[in-house]
Amino acid sequence: MRLTDQEVDAIAHMVAAKMESGAGRRPVIAGNWKMHKTPCETGTALQALVPLVSKTACEVVIAPAYPCLDRAARAIAGSNIRLCAQNIHWEPQGAFTGEVSTDMVLDLGVTHVIVGHSERRLFFGETDESVNRRTTVALEKGLAPIVCVGESLAEREAGRAKDVVGAQVRGCLAGLDGNRVSRLMLAYEPVWAIGTGKVAGPQQAQEIHAEIRQLLSSMYGEDVAQAVRILYGGSVKPDNAAALMAEPDVDGALVGGASLKPTDMAAICNAAA
Ligand code: PEP
Repeated sequence: MRLTDQEVDAIAHMVAAKMESGAGRRPVIAGNWKMHKTPCETGTALQALVPLVSKTACEVVIAPAYPCLDRAARAIAGSNIRLCAQNIHWEPQGAFTGEVSTDMVLDLGVTHVIVGHSERRLFFGETDESVNRRTTVALEKGLAPIVCVGESLAEREAGRAKDVVGAQVRGCLAGLDGNRVSRLMLAYEPVWAIGTGKVAGPQQAQEIHAEIRQLLSSMYGEDVAQAVRILYGGSVKPDNAAALMAEPDVDGALVGGASLKPTDMAAICNAAA
């Protein structure tokens, strides 16, 4: 679904006001392509996306699968789209079959990396401790990590969402100083909303985002808390992005399914800024 010009103008106005007030956090829309698209399909999709997002004020990030990064880098060269890896290992090199190091992705022009996605936690044994190691090395090497946290449906229904997310944030950021933390992004992705079509309502998202920012303030001080961008993820689509982005502590989105289609990704970016 496409937004009307009036809706886009109203949202752009709201985002500009949000950026001018206080922290001035630039909205970021990150597309997680997961295990979709071949290198050839990646090139085609990105060639279509480049002109569609060339005017947006938000930071546009795309995370293709590893074998597609090189093709992606060539397709977005000279554009405002930034390249993101879907994970990285904390060791610089070694006998870790199937893993990819930070230097390998940096060499391909990658600037961002997703760490701790719930699918990594669920299917590949990722823990807050391993997410912390990946986050730490990413920051050391100058990559911008997008650190994912979020509760399951059972945890939400048990009234434990805030506690679970708070513990994940503490665990994933353990040992990092405020200077480093201010350079990362957190993505609040309630597991029950990922790929399910069930989106957290704007107020539900805002409640957890505000809680995360308060926690960051207690851990690192208010300046760091105000600098960190907190993205929402979970069934974000062109028709719900604007309402989510209107919340004061929602600074962008991590988008799965809808990011695969250039026109939908562009509509979300244009709704965000
Ligand atoms: C995701 O994979 O991070 C995600 C939010 O997926 P979707 O938008 O498809 O729910």
